[in-house]
Amino acid sequence: MKLLEGKNVIITGASRGIGKGIAQVFAQHGANIAFTYASSEGPALELEKELTDAGVKAKAYKSNAADFKQSQELVDAVNKDFDSIDVLINNAGITKDNLLMRISEDDFDKVIEVNLKSVFNMTKAVQRTMLKQRKGSIINMSSVVGVKGNAGQTNYAASKAGIIGFSKSVALELGSRSIRCNSIAPGFIETEMTGALNEETVQNWRDGIPLKRGGTPEDVANACVFLASDLSAYITGQTLNVDGGMLT
Ligand code: NAP
Repeated sequence: MKLLEGKNVIITGASRGIGKGIAQVFAQHGANIAFTYASSEGPALELEKELTDAGVKAKAYKSNAADFKQSQELVDAVNKDFDSIDVLINNAGITKDNLLMRISEDDFDKVIEVNLKSVFNMTKAVQRTMLKQRKGSIINMSSVVGVKGNAGQTNYAASKAGIIGFSKSVALELGSRSIRCNSIAPGFIETEMTGALNEETVQNWRDGIPLKRGGTPEDVANACVFLASDLSAYITGQTLNVDGGMLT
């Protein structure tokens, strides 16, 4: 069953990893997809072709989610190209891990800008469109690290916890217009972001997860399908853990 037939979706940071997985699964559910990338133009154009070949409308945009003006321009372009925006998925994110003792001011600021300010930029940019439509679903990619904290990731944890507070506040502000806003807190999802870790560390992570495996981009994408579709019409302001039971 196609759960997102004809819905127009923006996904930030879909040139690889979780964002790419969301784009692929959403296309299978009939969604039209506008997606962004920061610098991976080749992979982004390949994905645009793959999605178009799958029979949906798709377009890649180079846009820095941390930049307020670029986010506004992106949404203007998507509105022109796609006519409406039903779903926004704020997925773009980076890590710059270090112990507090060693972390630089620049690495703290960068992570907050790309991970958290981007969510403000994009949500503010789509707000007018969704208010006019009197409907919309916004899904923000937090992390179990934002819920629980993690040594060596003060910047990342602060950005991801900030996303949860921001999302709950948007849910309260926009609920009366049928605009929903939820967060997803993925656990250990095996992508390039986690590829930087050595195999022993990865195996330790897997062993500690109740479902005994790392997650896949598709695992996260399927949760996004639920929150984007009308199946979740009465759900807003929530954080959905997609973590194999890690935080249980
Ligand atoms: P990834 O493989 O590193 O991919 C990151 C994506 O974000 C890429 O498409 C990248 O584009 C894009 N991006 C980076 N900076 C950007 C910017 N300033 N503006 C626009 N796009 C930008 O990461 P991932 O593992 O798929 O993670 C996706 C999201 O899930 C992130 O928010 C991450 O924090 C969150 N998450 C991941 C895990 C995990 O275990 N992997 C767990 C919890 C939460 P380019 O290719 O052009 O650089």
